[in-house]
Amino acid sequence: MQNTDRYVVGIDLGGTKIAAALFNADGEILNRERMETAGLCTAKEVVQRMEDMIHSVSKGYPISGVGLASPGMVNSRDGIVLQGTNLPEWSNVPLKQWVGEALGVDVEVVNDANAAAWGEYIRGAGAGSGNMVYVTFSTGIGAGIVLDGKLLLGANSFAGELGHNIVEPDGPACICGNNGCWEMYASGTAIREAALELMESRPSMIRELAEASGEAVSARHVFEAHKQADPVAIQVVDRTVHYMALGLANAIHTFNPDRIVIGGGVSKAGDQLFPALRAETDKLVMKAYRGTYEIVPAGLRDDVGLIGAAALFHA
Ligand SMILES: [Zn+2]
Repeated sequence: MQNTDRYVVGIDLGGTKIAAALFNADGEILNRERMETAGLCTAKEVVQRMEDMIHSVSKGYPISGVGLASPGMVNSRDGIVLQGTNLPEWSNVPLKQWVGEALGVDVEVVNDANAAAWGEYIRGAGAGSGNMVYVTFSTGIGAGIVLDGKLLLGANSFAGELGHNIVEPDGPACICGNNGCWEMYASGTAIREAALELMESRPSMIRELAEASGEAVSARHVFEAHKQADPVAIQVVDRTVHYMALGLANAIHTFNPDRIVIGGGVSKAGDQLFPALRAETDKLVMKAYRGTYEIVPAGLRDDVGLIGAAALFHA
């Protein structure tokens, strides 16, 4: 990671698409492109597509680096995506080496939650903080930690998997192989599951709201019903807020952040969520921590991964 006054390309590699953008030194997007990965069979083909996009968005600009955000487990020190994306044949892919050699530029690779955390820290709601914990509550829970102004990677750059901290050892099985992980209780998926379970025995407007929108029940419908004082929704939101706060309290005790930035679909609940989340977290942390941190909604939207990846060169 280095300072530069030139142009950087950020890439956000998703399960089904690649987004690329050219940034200037102020972090402004000058060009952007987005393409599906459908039809691409090998990692080499995906990387070739990525390289074409980098050429295309940076045409006419001298670029000094490419920052890549990838889902799954990433070895950031060597720039290798180890595993865990929906892309075919995507394991042990030496992205830094391939893209670096093809384009002759410096390449940094981080996992998508770390990229988002760094983006929020440099350009978003974490700006001005010294020690920040970023948590995104969506299908699962992603997190990234900035300590003393540096993205915390850890020995294998696996740091920040807060979603798999165990909060209920006797809880339901998680995809990671353990039971009762935080994301089983506080993610958008957990909100939906809790609502569906309660609705088996109790009436609720959540199902009607979902049907009216032509979608399956989701956290969004639960918050909509919560606005109208639906008892099932109130119970689900109260329970979720408790578990969100429980995980945040663990993170506060571990990292002593001055700011906690909350992203993901669940954070869009705004005033239905934040005052209660702050109060519950305050209740769960040790007394000395009260007043030492703030909990704020994320400042960046869908571009957070792209912005964070590019910002690896704008630290
Ligand atoms: Zn887990």
